[in-house]
Amino acid sequence: MKPSLIRIFPDPVLRKKAALVTVFDRSLLRLVAVLIRTMRFQAHGIGIAAPQIGISRAVAIVDVSRRDSSAQRLILVNPEIIERREPEARKEGCMSLPDYMAYLKRHLWVRFRWQDERGKSHEKVSLGIEAVCVEHEVDHLNGILFIDHVTCLKTDMVPRSRK
Ligand SMILES: [Zn+2]
Repeated sequence: MKPSLIRIFPDPVLRKKAALVTVFDRSLLRLVAVLIRTMRFQAHGIGIAAPQIGISRAVAIVDVSRRDSSAQRLILVNPEIIERREPEARKEGCMSLPDYMAYLKRHLWVRFRWQDERGKSHEKVSLGIEAVCVEHEVDHLNGILFIDHVTCLKTDMVPRSRK
């Protein structure tokens, strides 16, 4: 399955609230496969949400195993954050806003629930980079981008250095 093109801000699909998944069928499995491939083909991709490839459905992938070898890939269908703790200001970026990074408040402890690609329900507490990534991807499914959390565009936005 080929990777898809990443939608770039201000593409309107990035601002839509994604539809909840109610049918767990082969088209959902195909979407998950395309998301995983697309995330891998993008430098720094540790998470991706379906709206980023133009599909407004509540599906996201989080895989921070490159930064934390104990982490496992999470396939998040209809994810929902239940509780957030340990706020911290951090620098982050997004494949849909490739030119900038920004300092913003995230949480290093996040409890969330979701369904897997077969429809089974799960609940988990994530820590550190994985918690931050889950927040970022769940935001995407609600039409929220990291720039929405930036309090001062002048001081907190930084151009991303290109290699
Ligand atoms: Zn993003």
